[in-house]
Amino acid sequence: MQEKTTMEDTISAIATAPGEGGIGIIRISGQHAVSIAHKIFRPFSAKSMEEYAPRSAVYGQVLDEQGRIIDEAICIVMNAPNSYTCEDVVEIQCHGGSVVMREILSLTYRHGARAAEPGEFTKRAFLNGRLDLSQAQAVMDVINAKTQASLAMAMSHLSGGFSDKIKGFRHDILEIIAHLEASIDFPEDDIEGMDFEDTRERVKLLQDKIQKMVDGSHTGIILRDGLKTAIIGKPNAGKSSIMNLLLGQERAIVTDVPGTTRDSIEEYVNIGGIPLRLIDTAGIRDTDDIVEKIGVEKAYSYANDAELVLAVFDSNEPLNHEDEEIIQLLDKCPGNVIVIMNKMDLSADVNDDIISGKLKNCPNARIRGIVPMSAKSGEGQELLEQLLSDIVYGGNTKIMESQALCDARQGEILRQAASLLGDTLNTIDMGMSEDFIVIDLRASWEKLGEITGETIEDDIVDQIFSNFCIGK
Ligand code: GDP
Repeated sequence: MQEKTTMEDTISAIATAPGEGGIGIIRISGQHAVSIAHKIFRPFSAKSMEEYAPRSAVYGQVLDEQGRIIDEAICIVMNAPNSYTCEDVVEIQCHGGSVVMREILSLTYRHGARAAEPGEFTKRAFLNGRLDLSQAQAVMDVINAKTQASLAMAMSHLSGGFSDKIKGFRHDILEIIAHLEASIDFPEDDIEGMDFEDTRERVKLLQDKIQKMVDGSHTGIILRDGLKTAIIGKPNAGKSSIMNLLLGQERAIVTDVPGTTRDSIEEYVNIGGIPLRLIDTAGIRDTDDIVEKIGVEKAYSYANDAELVLAVFDSNEPLNHEDEEIIQLLDKCPGNVIVIMNKMDLSADVNDDIISGKLKNCPNARIRGIVPMSAKSGEGQELLEQLLSDIVYGGNTKIMESQALCDARQGEILRQAASLLGDTLNTIDMGMSEDFIVIDLRASWEKLGEITGETIEDDIVDQIFSNFCIGK
């Protein structure tokens, strides 16, 4: 269906967000980028485009083939390799209207550029060696970051903190391999056969380090994607009020989910730097009829789907059968549960103890704490933050964001790499020769290279970048 695209093509796209804004940027990259700029852009000064030094911000007009003025703009030429893609790149900063931007974009097409694919600029930055794969992935994570902690993690990945760790592991493996290979090549230097104790220790140390990262992997994934959270409770317990409190305090980020037919939205709240991705918040808030509000059945399906359940009870009222049903439901929730005793501002007669007693009958529920709260006064938010932080950071001191994995793919690769090192240990323990140990070590070394992109198949690279948006 599509013509074959190559790295030789000059690509062009609108780099700014869709819609209207003060300024819009058209970005062109590739061997014809500069000549296209010369054809479509005329500086206001007496100088021609060619006379300007690279990376000058040149003020002028964008003109079509008939000399008609499309817009006034600023044009910046960045010559290879000093650009984002390491190719010649031109950025035209025009007015941010969608018609203006599309006109200029189609002008670039008519002069030989083609539409950039999703993520193609960043993919070129990767293929040209400017970023490794983990850094390239971090570009999207920086753009999509939901909280400051998510941003800090993404930035540290982008600046290479995470890649450096992985490269360090690979370097260590190579050193062990080199040592073993030396003893294969020069067996006469060997004193009474190789002593594998030292090798074993080094492999084990490495395996432990990698395993530690795997163990902490959920932190990064949560910081990046948000913790999928359901708020459940009987009608009038105060779910909407709590949600509004959480949404209101920190700015909520609402994103449209592309490709969905209905008005499905994802809503994020930021609690102490941890992004909670709230499930079907519209559903909870939009229903006026209280009876229609979240029934136990619906609550069940939300809760089943969530990594975190906030179970809201009205501390001002005796528990009723609906509360009892919710409590029973908690026993079946796969995710963590935080129990919220709401309306503390009213209650003299707190039924905290009753709830605690009942929860003892839910041995399978992963209850992380009970929070006395008031959606009205805001009381209880600090404790909620603390509990969340325990869930996400595992109660330890905060994981260095640079060490946190950022997605499930990276987590799986590290898990496999650690397991291959486990195989290496077995091979050593079985008393097998250096060659076999080297084979196992190489497998682990190659596996780790899939994170930085040094050992990765093209179609996986394509797949990763296809999740980017156009213009990035
Ligand atoms: P939902 O049905 O669970 O979503 O409950 P709502 O959030 O709609 O709250 C039901 C009623 O309880 C509303 O009149 C709220 O104003 C009130 N409410 C909710 N939380 C509190 C609270 O912490 N204190 C007090 N005094 N009233 C609350």
